[in-house]
Amino acid sequence: METHARVVVIGGGVTGCAILYHLAKAGWRDVVLLERKELTAGSTWHAAGSLFALTNPSSAAVLQNYTIRLYPELEKESGQSCGYHPVGGIHLARTDDQLTALQILHSRGKRNGIESEFISLEEARRLAPILKSDGLKAVLYEPMKGYCDPASVTQAYAKAARDRGAKIYRETPVTSTKQNADGSWTVGTPNGDIKTDYVVNAAGLWAREVAALAGITLPLQPVEHHYMVTETIPEIAAMGHEVPNISEPSGGYYCRQEGKGLLLGAYESKCVHWAENGTPLDFGHELLPDDLSRMEENLARAVEAMPCLESAGIKRVINGPMIFSPDLGPLLGPYPGLKNYFCACGVMSGFNQGGGIGKVLTEWIIEGEPSLDVFFWDVARFGDWAGKRYTRERTRYFYEHRTDLVYPAQEFTAGRPMRTFPIHDQLKEKGAVFGLNFGFEYPLWFARKDKGEVAEDRYGFNRGNWFDAVGEECRALRDGVGLLEISTFAKYEATGKGVAAWLEHLLANKMPKGIGKTVLSPMLSAKGRLIGDFTVTRLGEERFVMLGSGPMQRWHMRWFEQNLPRDGSIRVENLSVRYCGLHIAGPKARELLQAVVLDEDVGGNAFPFLSAKEMAVGACPNAIVVRVSFTGELGYEIYMPAEYQRGVYEALTGAGKALGLHHAGSRALLSLRVEKGFPSWGVDLSPDYSPYEPGMGRFVRLDKPDFIGKAGAEAASKAGPKERLASFVVEANGVDCFGGEAIYRNGQLAGYVTSGTYGHTVKESLALGYVKPQFFEDAAEFEIELLGKRRPALLSAKARFDPEGTRMRG
Ligand SMILES: Cc1cc2nc3c(=O)[nH]c(=O)nc-3n(C[C@H](O)[C@H](O)[C@H](O)COP(=O)(O)OP(=O)(O)OC[C@H]3O[C@@H](n4cnc5c(N)ncnc54)[C@H](O)[C@@H]3O)c2cc1C
Repeated sequence: METHARVVVIGGGVTGCAILYHLAKAGWRDVVLLERKELTAGSTWHAAGSLFALTNPSSAAVLQNYTIRLYPELEKESGQSCGYHPVGGIHLARTDDQLTALQILHSRGKRNGIESEFISLEEARRLAPILKSDGLKAVLYEPMKGYCDPASVTQAYAKAARDRGAKIYRETPVTSTKQNADGSWTVGTPNGDIKTDYVVNAAGLWAREVAALAGITLPLQPVEHHYMVTETIPEIAAMGHEVPNISEPSGGYYCRQEGKGLLLGAYESKCVHWAENGTPLDFGHELLPDDLSRMEENLARAVEAMPCLESAGIKRVINGPMIFSPDLGPLLGPYPGLKNYFCACGVMSGFNQGGGIGKVLTEWIIEGEPSLDVFFWDVARFGDWAGKRYTRERTRYFYEHRTDLVYPAQEFTAGRPMRTFPIHDQLKEKGAVFGLNFGFEYPLWFARKDKGEVAEDRYGFNRGNWFDAVGEECRALRDGVGLLEISTFAKYEATGKGVAAWLEHLLANKMPKGIGKTVLSPMLSAKGRLIGDFTVTRLGEERFVMLGSGPMQRWHMRWFEQNLPRDGSIRVENLSVRYCGLHIAGPKARELLQAVVLDEDVGGNAFPFLSAKEMAVGACPNAIVVRVSFTGELGYEIYMPAEYQRGVYEALTGAGKALGLHHAGSRALLSLRVEKGFPSWGVDLSPDYSPYEPGMGRFVRLDKPDFIGKAGAEAASKAGPKERLASFVVEANGVDCFGGEAIYRNGQLAGYVTSGTYGHTVKESLALGYVKPQFFEDAAEFEIELLGKRRPALLSAKARFDPEGTRMRG
């Protein structure tokens, strides 16, 4: 065995082999895969091999589409069959809501060119004569569905990787991973040690154990999963073609042809966790005792769609373990705080995701960044707060509800509450309905007790039960003053000698020169992609505070640490938990602030827009107050050490009584910022864009000598934006966009929606979306495919509310 390698991949399941293949394909030959037993000896060998491309979010669909399209190429390259059967698939809808869910899926696929079409029941019966079409409302056909042979796919990746020079060692368990002083790693095995630049943990069912070798804990939990294979079914044997895959929203099952029978998999209504305290090290090509009774409910639903299942003999029942993260998505990327330690763990759907994971991990290792936004699968999306209890409760919930409909704005209560801010109980008393943001409870909206509203969300595809209350929050804020809990915003303090120069290099805008000045700045990747969007304030010669998107904080810290000077001269501290935030906004916000700051002058001249001051606010002697606005109104963000939040809140609500202070939640903020055309991180802004698509070019100073991503930004600026973000006024007729809807111009696909809401103070249904530049024209007519219907929409080049920004600057 080698003693040196550039990359050591731990684990020879489909994920590890797909990564090895992509590394070798990218030209890295000295890459090694170590497998404890035989290839496929984890979840891989007993998988069902069902394939589908349509999924959420959009980039996940891109990766699944890539994976499936790779199989014919892989077969050709390796000379090894993948058992790939592109038989297509049909999704069934029995209720209006299920139909709507399919219409949404269909519309979202268009952004990435993933085909699907609604077909008639007759056509569905022609494709799948075993289908009972009674009670069906609609059928969506997805040509990319199909199935593969799991072991063959894995062997094909392995063979193609070997052919390109990669090495695979079986019967070679990794027993230690130690980082050396120079940042390289030593991977220990009973057959000797390998020194390597990069380690990739692709140990599947044992990812927790392998992570522990490097001293880290991953939020993962294995669960049991059943499928069964039937004997020959005469109707299928009599067919001249293969049955497409069959599934239905809320069905709890998936089904595909196997031989001349069917394979039926179940997301059982009772999830059973396996190996809670660790995966046995001697577990190999084994199955778990099956219990068909756990599949009964799923089987009954499948029989309703395919009556032939009722009398089919059962040839084989499989109960195998698979391992999940709390949201069932993979944990990918560099583990924060560990140099060159990459995770490719918790892969729930390796035959749909493996190729895409191999591609993005390879890009990440070799080029330093993946070619598309993969935050939804990034290991950094969870923090230490995602402990065992949370992981177990979330995996249970999402497994049991795997095929359930998900409604717009839906929040999930499993595993909560996790973390709460000091004024949580007061806000609850006020009627707050909470959502979850990086493990913290934060208010979405406030139910009005005097109007008999119940403080809970009721979901549907139409406007939610919070609509009127949110309307009142928006109007009260625009007419007077509103208070929002904003502690979930990420807050960082950067200090040290040379910190201003360091930030000039890290961020794309010019840093404020004067103390107390604030700028907005994008942060770009080495290739010029958007990777952050910050409010930066200078609080001292060598002290800056940066505010950004809450869920990105571990991601951002990973990036900051990667780019800090090695001499320790600059320090970035994540203050997000230690500091809480409250935001007051509206024409009376200044009056309110003045009432709680004693001797400080917060008048327009003394405290202008885009400036900041440290001052005593209420009980807090040293709050940081930043004059910025995400609502379009005169606004102040007030940050204070957590122990003072209650005191500041009481001061504000006390003084606010005379001013009609109204509480507002994040759904009001969504409405207000979309009225203003302000994009938000994670929905309208992501690494899928350069700063020029969302119109943030004015914050990129190409005249600075140098900054990370400058060359990429220059090229993007020269080429012009590939898409442009615009506001749309939608003739929505009682419903609103919520993101992902396809946008058409003269019947031609022109773009997609990223945010949608009702603009309560402009009294219009609104959306923000990207269109190709040739379609960007003020007042041009479009159609937006909302809940299956194309609805007229007008592009608005300017914000719908106060486009000149006079109110927030006033
Ligand atoms: C019943 C069932 C049905 C499924 N059906 C489908 C489906 O239809 N479609 C789909 O896409 N997915 C399906 N899956 C999921 C799929 O099996 C997994 O997503 C996939 O196998 C995960 O592969 P992996 O390589 O990440 O992990 P694993 O397959 O678990 O591989 C990890 C490998 O790492 C090795 N390893 C562990 N520790 C060490 C160590 N210390 N040193 C060296 N090697 C080590 C193990 O031996 C193992 O070979 C199904 C799963 C189950 C259980």
